[in-house]
Amino acid sequence: MTAPPPRLLIVDDQPINIQSLHQIFQADHTVLAATSAAQALALCQRQPPPDLILLDIIMPEMDGLALCRLLKADALTADIPIIFVTAQSSSEEESAALEAGGVDFISKPVNPAVVRARVKTHLTLKAQSDFLRSLAFMDGLTGVANRRRFNEALDSAWRHSLRQRESLGLVMMDIDHFKRYNDHYGHQQGDTCLQAVAQTLQQHMQRPYDLLARYGGEEFVCLLPGCNHQATLDKAEQLRRAIADLALPHAQSPTASHVTLSLGAVALELDATPSELPPSLTAQALLQQADTALYTAKNQGRNQVASKVFSPAAAQ
Ligand code: GH3
Ligand code: MG
Ligand code: MG
Repeated sequence: MTAPPPRLLIVDDQPINIQSLHQIFQADHTVLAATSAAQALALCQRQPPPDLILLDIIMPEMDGLALCRLLKADALTADIPIIFVTAQSSSEEESAALEAGGVDFISKPVNPAVVRARVKTHLTLKAQSDFLRSLAFMDGLTGVANRRRFNEALDSAWRHSLRQRESLGLVMMDIDHFKRYNDHYGHQQGDTCLQAVAQTLQQHMQRPYDLLARYGGEEFVCLLPGCNHQATLDKAEQLRRAIADLALPHAQSPTASHVTLSLGAVALELDATPSELPPSLTAQALLQQADTALYTAKNQGRNQVASKVFSPAAAQ
């Protein structure tokens, strides 16, 4: 699979300047254009955002420096590198541009070879930092999201759910008798088992915002935005069955002859009518209740789902 061409956004109030940059990049980039800061802002908030912005400084209404500061202040757009392109190349202006958060500064009229080289450098740096960031959020053994990524996703999904009054499902999972598995088959085989379990669970994450993460040693968690209690329960049961159906031999398990999971399922369900929410209604409380439900599943005999209805009333 070849990577899609990099997306460049050119912002300049003079269409002629946009045209000349467009000509330089159109062959091997997806070029977006905006003639005002407001238009540029709207384009940056769309998915996928541009990979790099070539930004004019002097524009009517909002100038390039103000737009740059706005983009840098929003977590969604803060990482887009911005190269200023401007006619007035005084050292004061150059330092103002860099202070506003620009990565580079090019004077007009642009030299095609220079602007291409600088854009290439910053796109490479951006790709490298994106890659490093993706590693920082990935579990090294299984390749699924790690706990740090999960905590961030839970936090933003939680706020989204409260704002939109949408349900939010959460499932905590733990492999049954995994210590015995390691003791019997060896740690390396244990690692292979964790990879197989993670891969199978991941295959069952079907919606774009569903997230599976490795929460700890042999514990996984999944976040299901938009899922109410019943949907979360159904998903948990589907995951339980998927792991049982893998039929990975587990000779020492008192529960079954194959590897099994215990699961705790909870869902935040809110009334359609906004009301005062109790302070005890937190993402951590949701997580805590999923953990309690998991504990119940273990106590009731493992290889099963236990659930809890989580609501403002229940959290009080
Ligand atoms: P239960 O059914 O109650 O969950 O029992 P359990 O044996 O699964 O639970 P326990 O917490 O006693 O043991 C978890 C085991 O998971 C112990 C630990 O060695 C193993 N483990 C944790 N992380 C890894 C890992 O990365 N690789 C391997 N191979 N084993 C791991
Ligand atoms: Mg376990
Ligand atoms: Mg455990």
